[in-house]
Amino acid sequence: MQLSSILSRFSEPETLKMAKLGRELRAKGIDIVDLSLGEPDFDTPQHIKEAAKKAIDENWSHYTPVAGYLDLRQAICNKFSRDNNLAFTPDQIIVSTGAKQSIANLVLSLIDKGDEVIIPTPYWVTYSAIVQLANGTPKFVNTTLENDYKITAEQLESAITYNTKLFMFSSPCNPTGAVYSKDELEKLAAVFEKYPRIYIMSDEIYEYINFVGKHESIAQFDSIKERVIVVNGLSKGFAMTGWRLGYIAASAELAKACDKVQGQFTSGANSITQRAAITALNSDLKPTMEMVKEFEDRRKKVMALMKDLPLMQCNEPDGAFYVFPRIEKYFGKKFGEQVIADADDLSMYLLNEAHVSTVTGKAFGQPNCIRLSFANSMKNIEEGFKRIKSGLEKLV
Ligand code: PLP
Repeated sequence: MQLSSILSRFSEPETLKMAKLGRELRAKGIDIVDLSLGEPDFDTPQHIKEAAKKAIDENWSHYTPVAGYLDLRQAICNKFSRDNNLAFTPDQIIVSTGAKQSIANLVLSLIDKGDEVIIPTPYWVTYSAIVQLANGTPKFVNTTLENDYKITAEQLESAITYNTKLFMFSSPCNPTGAVYSKDELEKLAAVFEKYPRIYIMSDEIYEYINFVGKHESIAQFDSIKERVIVVNGLSKGFAMTGWRLGYIAASAELAKACDKVQGQFTSGANSITQRAAITALNSDLKPTMEMVKEFEDRRKKVMALMKDLPLMQCNEPDGAFYVFPRIEKYFGKKFGEQVIADADDLSMYLLNEAHVSTVTGKAFGQPNCIRLSFANSMKNIEEGFKRIKSGLEKLV
């Protein structure tokens, strides 16, 4: 069968592949501790579920405007004003079927063949895949554990060329949990100020899952604000991954371009989810903050458990719900005839022998690491780390 060449430009997300392998082993009756999860293990807050039920009863069942209901886009503007002190108008907001679609709309709206996109490594799996799908060229910049996996202004500037069109990053970051401070963002903004043709995609989907206090957005700097596209959504902060709702805030011109792309791919996002999203955004954030408190307690636990794995080194995540340890000290070790050559091997070894699912760092462009999620109960985290420890002790 002759499939299109687009398909060969990117691969299936490793995160989804790992979840699938874990499910297959579970179906065989094997008890797997899942530390590969990329979503909160909490239920959607009750008041949001009630809003969705009401929307069904009130027959919000028709196609919506492509960009999303006007009152939802207004609620998003209010959220930006309340949480981020950023002023947007509804014509600058496009609501999509998840932040993933928001990012795809944006990249397809901006990137042509030959355009370069700077992506600090480690990055969220989908950034590079979508750039490649759009025929752009990702330019990866390696960040280091020593610098808490954040790109510096010097690194950024030296990666910029005449062809640079876009910079894509997340703060808090998946997979490293790194959170950029206002000062760090200001230094990056000072570089962008010198290059007016570069756009900046700021993925803030983990905004609320932040253990250092106030979330800072690079959109706060007036000199570059016109060129910043803030990506956000309800998946992580409101435990609504399956509901599928993301959005962007951008210049009205770019928002219109994303509206055009989305109009041919999917049209407006799910109507019931949109009605429920209005309630989520307009309500008190107490349920979100309770969830964040639990993540913070688990982070503490995970950092304590990491001490039992002295050959792994990791930064303390300031946000999101992952740890991303370096594991190259295990490379070359053996289990029987099996040699651990890279992060893929270690991740598969932990799945098959320790029955813990993790995600290989290769998926995030950092082949010396694996990602462990703490979006799981304290009990499962403890059990997962116990199994990892005894699994690793068997390697010689
Ligand atoms: N951005 C980052 C950094 C993510 O980790 C994810 C989901 O894992 C997304 C975007 C996509 O979120 P959504 O579920 O809204 O598509």
